[in-house]
Amino acid sequence: MTNENVVLSGMRATGRIHLGNYFGAVKNWVELQDRYRCFYFIADWHALTTDYAEPKQIGDNSLEMLADLLASGLDPERSVIFVQSLVPEHAELHLLLSMITPLGWLERVPTYKEQIKELSNKDLFTYGFLGYPVLQTADILLYRAQFVPVGEDQASHLELSREIGRRFNSYFGDIFPEPKALFTPTPKVPGLDGRKMSKSYGNTINLSDSPEEVTAKCREMFTDPERIRRTDVGHPETCNLFQFHRLFSSAELQEKVAGECRRAQIGCVDDKRLIADQINEFLAPIRARRQDLLKNRDVLLDILSAGSRKAAERAGETMDEVRSALSINYRKVGEESR
Ligand code: SF4
Repeated sequence: MTNENVVLSGMRATGRIHLGNYFGAVKNWVELQDRYRCFYFIADWHALTTDYAEPKQIGDNSLEMLADLLASGLDPERSVIFVQSLVPEHAELHLLLSMITPLGWLERVPTYKEQIKELSNKDLFTYGFLGYPVLQTADILLYRAQFVPVGEDQASHLELSREIGRRFNSYFGDIFPEPKALFTPTPKVPGLDGRKMSKSYGNTINLSDSPEEVTAKCREMFTDPERIRRTDVGHPETCNLFQFHRLFSSAELQEKVAGECRRAQIGCVDDKRLIADQINEFLAPIRARRQDLLKNRDVLLDILSAGSRKAAERAGETMDEVRSALSINYRKVGEESR
């Protein structure tokens, strides 16, 4: 098995890709394509850990997400792009890793209790939800990824994966390399309401939103809470909307808006229209590409199936060694692992 630098990352198929996902992950994935051997996957099984009661959307979400990713610049010629459930080795390794993962490690994951509280409308007291980090570990170790692009807030998840990998190696030999975090500076993308942009808060702008939807959402955007009247001076440095200018507007426009805001020469209503135009200008080519891609779902399915075959090749090689290490390899030498 080649040991070139493999990067692995995935995204849960729980909805459309929003600007927070784009700037927090996807933009970076696109840039990594030329420097590493990248494996990117759509995590449909992970989506089931929270959305198991309503799975109907997951298949659709996966294809829409693929269109979002391709429209954003992921290239199936340069990266392996696949869907988790088409590579069943993820489930096999998850099962095997679950044998050696102490329960206490999972119960202590900080986001476990947080998510249960946050998604209180769903019953998350399931085996699958508790085991989510083990599945995540299987996703990474299956490809013997050397690097996992993470934001600072996900570093603890990766640390758990490293610990599970170390524990496996200590029992069965040196099978898995330790995946390292690939920290890349990502800008903070606030939601419409000033909290972190997140599907579960319903405060997102999606890559798939129409220009009218973007404009309507921008109208709802939180601004400087101290600016009550049009004649009050504003504070761009603390204004939620201005953070979008930092992402989407030229330096000149940022300077102009900030100056006019501080002198009360521009109203927030006008600025909301202005930022909507900036965001729409940014989204226009992505939107056009994704609409084009979604016209032919068979092509998308072909891309997923070809990517999944490539992923399965590497996954199969890993599982061959894992099964041998556990003395449960019943295949003849040279026999296909699947
Ligand atoms: S004018 Fe713009 S930057 Fe100033 S407070 Fe209003 S929305 Fe914020």
